[in-house]
Amino acid sequence: MTPATRPVTALSGVGPALAARLAKLGVETVSDLLFLLPNRYEDRTRVVPIGALRPGARVAVEGEIQLAEIVFRRRRTLLARLSDGTGFLTLRFFHFSGAQQQQLARGVRLRCFGEVRRGPVGLEIVHPEYRLADAPDRQAVLDALTPVYPTTEGIQQGRLRLLTAQALAALVQEDEPDLLPPEAARELACSGLREALQFLHRPPPHASLELLESGRHPAQRRLAFEELLAHQLSLRALRNEIRRDPGWPIAAPGLLGARLLETVGFPLTAAQRRVNAEIESDLAAPHPMMRLVQGDVGSGKTIVAALASLAAIEAGYQAALMAPTELLAEQHAQNFTRWLAPLAIEPLLLTGRLGGRARQATLAAVASGTRPLVIGTHALFQEDVNFARLALVIVDEQHRFGVHQRLRLRDKGAGRYPHQLIMTATPIPRTLAMTAYADLDVSVIDELPPGRTPVQTVVMPDSRRDAIVARIRAACLEGRQVYWVCPLIEESEVLEAQAAEDTATALAAALPEIAVGLVHGRMAATAKERTMARFKAGELGLLVATTVIEVGVDVPNASLMVIENAERMGLAQLHQLRGRVGRGTQASSCLLLYHPPMSAAAKERLAVLRRTSDGFEVARRDLELRGPGELLGTRQTGLMQLKVADLMRDADLLPRVQAMADVMQDAHAANIAPLKRRWIGASTRYGKV
Ligand code: ADP
Ligand code: MG
Repeated sequence: MTPATRPVTALSGVGPALAARLAKLGVETVSDLLFLLPNRYEDRTRVVPIGALRPGARVAVEGEIQLAEIVFRRRRTLLARLSDGTGFLTLRFFHFSGAQQQQLARGVRLRCFGEVRRGPVGLEIVHPEYRLADAPDRQAVLDALTPVYPTTEGIQQGRLRLLTAQALAALVQEDEPDLLPPEAARELACSGLREALQFLHRPPPHASLELLESGRHPAQRRLAFEELLAHQLSLRALRNEIRRDPGWPIAAPGLLGARLLETVGFPLTAAQRRVNAEIESDLAAPHPMMRLVQGDVGSGKTIVAALASLAAIEAGYQAALMAPTELLAEQHAQNFTRWLAPLAIEPLLLTGRLGGRARQATLAAVASGTRPLVIGTHALFQEDVNFARLALVIVDEQHRFGVHQRLRLRDKGAGRYPHQLIMTATPIPRTLAMTAYADLDVSVIDELPPGRTPVQTVVMPDSRRDAIVARIRAACLEGRQVYWVCPLIEESEVLEAQAAEDTATALAAALPEIAVGLVHGRMAATAKERTMARFKAGELGLLVATTVIEVGVDVPNASLMVIENAERMGLAQLHQLRGRVGRGTQASSCLLLYHPPMSAAAKERLAVLRRTSDGFEVARRDLELRGPGELLGTRQTGLMQLKVADLMRDADLLPRVQAMADVMQDAHAANIAPLKRRWIGASTRYGKV
C-alpha cells in the first residue's frame, strides 16, 4: 500500500475515535497527513531567560523545579515553581495525572513551552507543553522549529506531531509520488516533493522562521504551485464537463433585440456590442454557455442582459435573472417592464417577500411557461420553483452569490442545463480571473457609455456637516438629486435602520425645502419600492439609505453621494456606492465622510478612491490591501479553499500554473486525478451540485 491508499488507522495510536476527528480535518489517509501542513512554526530552540519574560509571549524556558505542590482553591491545582537563576515562573496544571505529579518533583530540570501570563504571584504558564531537559530524545525535539498544525477540537498538537512523524518515517521507505512533470521542478528550481514535505513538517533549526512565516520558502512555493495546479485542473474539468452537456442552442434572428435597441434611446458602446456578440455566439452553441461578464459600475451590463434574455425568449424559451438584493431585483423588474412593454413582454418578479396566493400564481405562471421572463432574488432557486423551459440563467452581481447558488439555479433547466450569464462589477486582474473562474469564459465591458464625467471624490471629516448640508441644498436647487448613505452596523439591522431614520429626520429638519426619502433593509418591500420610485421620478431630492442601495441602483439624475463613516467600509463597497452617481451626463461628486481618528489602512483606502475611479485599478489595490478571499466575495471562498497557496502572495505563479495545466493535460494526464485527490480530496466542491 502507498501512503495515498493507507488509512490513518494503520498508524499506531489511531483508533476509530481519533480517525473520526482527523476526518474533520480532511485527513483520511497517511498521505493526507503529509499534506496537512503546519500553519506556523514556533522557535523552541531559543530558550528565553525567565527574568526576561513578558506576559503574552509564547516562549521556551528551561529551569529547575524548586517547589511542587497541590493546592486546593476553587479546584485542585498542581503548581510547580521553576527557576533558572534569572527569575521564577509558576507552572499551573488544572488537569494532571499521578504520574505527572511524581515527575514534576523538586530538582528536576524541565524544558517548557507555552504562553506567559500574569498570575496571582508573578508570571505563570498554564498547562505548558514540557519535557525533561535531560531526556534522551532531547536533540530530536530541539533540532527543529516546532510545527503548529491546523487543528480541531480534540486533537492536541503533540498528537499531530507524533502522527506526522510516523507519516514522515513511512515516507522514507515508500514513495509519495512526485506528480509534477520534471520540467515544473526545473522551472521552480526547487527540491523534490519528499524533501519539501520533510522540510515543512520538520524545518531544521537554521531554517529562517521569517521566510517560512512569509510563505515564500521554496518548499512552500513548490507545494503552493502544486495546489494551484490541482485547483486549476479541477475547474477546467468542470468546465469541460459542462461543455459536453447538451444545452439549448438558441438561434433566433434577433428581432426582439433589434426592437429593444430602437426604443432604449441610446446606441450600444463598442464594448457592449462586442460582449453581446460573444454571448450570441455562445447561445447558439449546442452546449451550455458559462460566461462571466465583467464591467465596471455603470458600464451598462443590464442592457446586455436584456438582449440575451430576448434572444432566449424569441427562440421560445424562458430566461431568469437573479439579483442579490430585493431592491435590485425590483429595479430590474421595473427597467425591464419599461423596456419590454413595446414588445408586449411583461417580466414576473419573484422575491422572498412574495407570499400566499400571489406567490402561488407566480409559480404557476413560471411552471406553465406562459411568462417567459422571471426576475428575482435567490427565491428563484427554491425547491418549489419550476420552470417550463428555462434556457438562460442570468446572475447579476455575481460576487454576492456563492458558486453553489449559481449551480443550483442551473439545475432548474428542464432536462438540460440552461446557459449561464454571470455579471459582476468587481473586476479582477486577468490572471486571477483565469484561476478563480477557470470554469467560465470571461468577457469584459471595458468602456463606459459616452458623456460620463468621472466622479469627483472628496474625503472630509464628518464634523463639517454644515458645509455638507449646504452642498446638498445647492445640488437639489439645481434640480439634481442626492444620496446619503448611513453607516453599516454589522451586528444589528435594527440599529442600522434606527440610525438611518434619525439621520433622515435630522436632514429633513436641516433642509426644510427639500423632499427627503428613506430606505433601509427593515422596511416593507412596498414602502421601499414606493420610495425608490419617487426618487427615480425626481419627486424626492434627497434619499437617505443604508447600504441596501450598494448594488445596481440606477438613477442617472443623482449627482451627489454622501457616505458616512466611509472609513469603516471596504474599497469594493465604496466603489460600488460611488457608482450610484456619475451615471448621467452632469459632473458628479462623492463625499467620503470619516469620523476621526482614522487608521492608516482606512486613510489608504480612501486615498485610493480619491485617486482613481477605474474599477480595475480599485480592484487591484483592494487585492493588495485585503487579499483575494474578500475580493472574490466572502461567500465565494468555498470555491477556493487553499491550504498552502495564497492567490495574492503567489500571484506570480499563476501564469506558470496555467501553462503547466496544459502540459499536464497533454502529457501527464494520468497524474491529474491523484493530484486533485491530494489537494482537493474527495470533496464534491466543484462537482455538479
Ligand atoms: P451596470 O453595468 O453598473 O449594471 P447599468 O446597466 O445599470 O450599469 O447602466 C448604467 C446606466 O447607463 C443606465 O442608466 C443605462 O441605461 C445607461 N446605459 C447603458 N448603456 C448605455 C449606452 N450604450 N449609452 C448610454 N447609456 C447607457
Ligand atoms: Mg448592474
